[in-house]
Amino acid sequence: MRVLWPLPPSPDKNRVDAGFLDPHYPEWRKAQGLAPHQHPGVDLNLSGTSGDADLGYPVVAVAEGRVVHSAFHRVWGHVVLLEHDLPGLGRFWTQYAHLLFRVAREGDYLFAGEPVGAIGKGDPARPYLAHLHFEVRRAPLEADFWPGGNADLIREKYLDPKAFLMNHYEPRRRFFRARGVLWAPDRQELSGLVVNLEDPALAQIALRRA
Ligand SMILES: [Zn+2]
Repeated sequence: MRVLWPLPPSPDKNRVDAGFLDPHYPEWRKAQGLAPHQHPGVDLNLSGTSGDADLGYPVVAVAEGRVVHSAFHRVWGHVVLLEHDLPGLGRFWTQYAHLLFRVAREGDYLFAGEPVGAIGKGDPARPYLAHLHFEVRRAPLEADFWPGGNADLIREKYLDPKAFLMNHYEPRRRFFRARGVLWAPDRQELSGLVVNLEDPALAQIALRRA
């Protein structure tokens, strides 16, 4: 199965700026005037950039799965939560937060590498420097669930995203989905086109009247 990092092309473009249960994280929060909570995910930035230079950079699904939540939240900004159930990995959830915008909608089924949104700054009312807050969860928590300072809860309900992605990184591409418009015989919207790259003669196309 295919597992990628959230900032394409992976893993080269992904720089971890705050790690899972990062010992510096509570101090960093205190310096921002926030409660000294623990970090249940990783903060990712585009390699080779600093400040807000990666604002708007695409964020993709790390594995195939269903979008179970896609919405704007105060403080979090735009959040997308995916549910995965994959051979060898079982059920797990990935959360993409502080997005500038979302392109994945609730109910969508995404393949690894399909866009979910773009790197943002969280809630515009109280923006952070641009980064992706990314979580891998082993429990079906609310999209905006925040464990606060409870490190034991984090160890129980979450996985270290960096270790998870390093252990399971698999770039081989077997499927490709394109979206477009088919102009004959009359205008029809392609709502889904899935090409099996192991046998390109096998394509599934879903059509919708425009
Ligand atoms: Zn974070």
